Amino acid sequence: MNARLLFVFATVLFVHSATPADSPPEPSLLLRPSAVFDGQQLHAGWAVLVHGDRIAAVGPASEVTAGGAGPIDLPNDTLIPGMIEGHSHLFLHPYNETPWSEQVTNESLAFRTAAATAHARQTLLAGFTTVRDLGTEGAGYGDVGLKKAINEGIVPGPRMIVVTRAIVATGSYGPKLSADLDLPQGAQEASGVEEIVRATREQIGKGADWVKLYADYRWGAGEPSRPTFSEEEMAAAVKAAHDAGRPVAAHATTAEGMRRAVLAGVDTIEHGDEGTPEVFKLMKERGVAFCPTVAAGDAIAQYRGWKKGSDLEPEGIRAKRASMKAARAAGVTFAMGGDVGVFAHGDNAREMELLVHEYGFTPLDVLRQATSGNAAIFHLADRGSIRAGGLADLVAFEGDPTKDVSALRQVRLVLKGGIIYLQM
Ligand SMILES: [Zn+2]
Repeated sequence: MNARLLFVFATVLFVHSATPADSPPEPSLLLRPSAVFDGQQLHAGWAVLVHGDRIAAVGPASEVTAGGAGPIDLPNDTLIPGMIEGHSHLFLHPYNETPWSEQVTNESLAFRTAAATAHARQTLLAGFTTVRDLGTEGAGYGDVGLKKAINEGIVPGPRMIVVTRAIVATGSYGPKLSADLDLPQGAQEASGVEEIVRATREQIGKGADWVKLYADYRWGAGEPSRPTFSEEEMAAAVKAAHDAGRPVAAHATTAEGMRRAVLAGVDTIEHGDEGTPEVFKLMKERGVAFCPTVAAGDAIAQYRGWKKGSDLEPEGIRAKRASMKAARAAGVTFAMGGDVGVFAHGDNAREMELLVHEYGFTPLDVLRQATSGNAAIFHLADRGSIRAGGLADLVAFEGDPTKDVSALRQVRLVLKGGIIYLQM
């Protein structure tokens, strides 16, 4: 276990005494790092003043002062907005510990929920104060309950955007053992416009913030992925979701699955491993963001025996490099999300490191993606940047992560809603 995760969880609640309505709000916390990354740019010598759960002021340290507020000096650290994980599964744990199908069939909901609370804490302490959690994978509506427990302060964790069960075409998803067994599935099955619309509305009714559709999947073990839902089915689900103010994420790895999902009106495409220049051009035209999850494919290839650095790259990794190149050439907007859960929670920075070391992005690119970029794609106007009035979700790292991505492993301070969850 990572030593950082053993750090005692400290809830420092800033309790305010009642003040007359006409007096200015009482400053509660002044942060004085070496520099502030505001979600777009780095500003040396800036400070941030937090009042309650919000940022009260940000700017040059000489201008941001607080009478009486005890400053936290972070002379070697960079303060950034709490990061937003774009693609997590808090109800899964790494597949090299237990394969996905065994987690879905053999692990009870109680076990999976207990584990998810630990995963939530690990995520928060790694500096990710929001997650878009893209499916409980057989754990029903557990994400809705976990989100509530976090919001009520019962367990520490990130702010959660949840999709509940996710929706797959009947017969396409797993687990699959004997044809005679009716096994619990990793997502809710639907076929036809009426069923997919009903499933969409059911999930929204039970708490889904987003809706997730699987546009393609492997129909059988060892097969390549093929399209599952028709464009008409997905368009009906998207309309029902958008009517309810819920965006839609589509799992799609094939060019045809991606094309159908984009034409159906989804908001983000997840994975896109076989994306072509044509389909990325279509995404660019339609304003559909791309969450490439490079870390998941990288982890799975290694679980299957790929000795990274010495073996030749597996076909899947080579295809991923080609699709990423095509996506960048098309100018698609990237969301930062690693499909964490396939690999360990708290190791979320792995996606950002791979994007820098292997896919040609700069540390500044990936930091923008994980903060202001994801906030824009996920319609989260209250976070992802450091500005007066925004949520006081703030993280400090030793060093400068805008220049060196490895600094993301040196977490010094985690604040969510003005509450300190970690201070090293
Ligand atoms: Zn996923």
